[in-house]
Amino acid sequence: MTRVGVLGLQGGVREHLQMLRGLGAEAVPVRTPEDLTGPDGVRVDAMVLPGGESSVIDRLLHLTGLFAPLQQALLAGLPALGTCAGLIELSKEVRNPAPGQQSLGVLGVEVDRNAFGPQIASRVATIDTEWGPVRGALIRAPQIMRVYPGSEPVARDAGVLLGARTGRVIGISFHPELTGDDTVHRAFLSSIF
Ligand code: GLN
Repeated sequence: MTRVGVLGLQGGVREHLQMLRGLGAEAVPVRTPEDLTGPDGVRVDAMVLPGGESSVIDRLLHLTGLFAPLQQALLAGLPALGTCAGLIELSKEVRNPAPGQQSLGVLGVEVDRNAFGPQIASRVATIDTEWGPVRGALIRAPQIMRVYPGSEPVARDAGVLLGARTGRVIGISFHPELTGDDTVHRAFLSSIF
């Protein structure tokens, strides 16, 4: 069975765990370096980085000591899916970061944090993705401003980029785990092996 870790520090952790389990994967929260890596190496086949608040997730990644081993595993080819704050944390470049905010730098994009305005401007949209139309919630969502050579767009809405991939790392601005649309998770799981 595919074993997927969900970064469990803050944000929509439970929704991703439920969606992955609903698709038949073994989904486990990853909160410490030991959850990620054991004596035999990385313990999961893939990682999901949920939405929430990227500056908080970034601080907690450093406080728990997970930042470096997670970055190393991703650079070594561990597949990952990040939604919203998870996309921001994966990105190479972040516009409008919180003071001191860093990112893992494994997804070749520049994102603009909070590009669509405050919480009250949240909406659900049908987003055009390479896996077909997906219902997703945009909640203080980041916009992808630039996709670097070697990376490719995977989702857009009215010409605005909302998803990209670098190798086996995918980031999307929206939350399909909140609308119950499992298209992206299904495609992600089937791409793991
Ligand atoms: N704006 C948030 C951030 O900077 C992301 C919001 C979300 O994940 N829904 O992390």
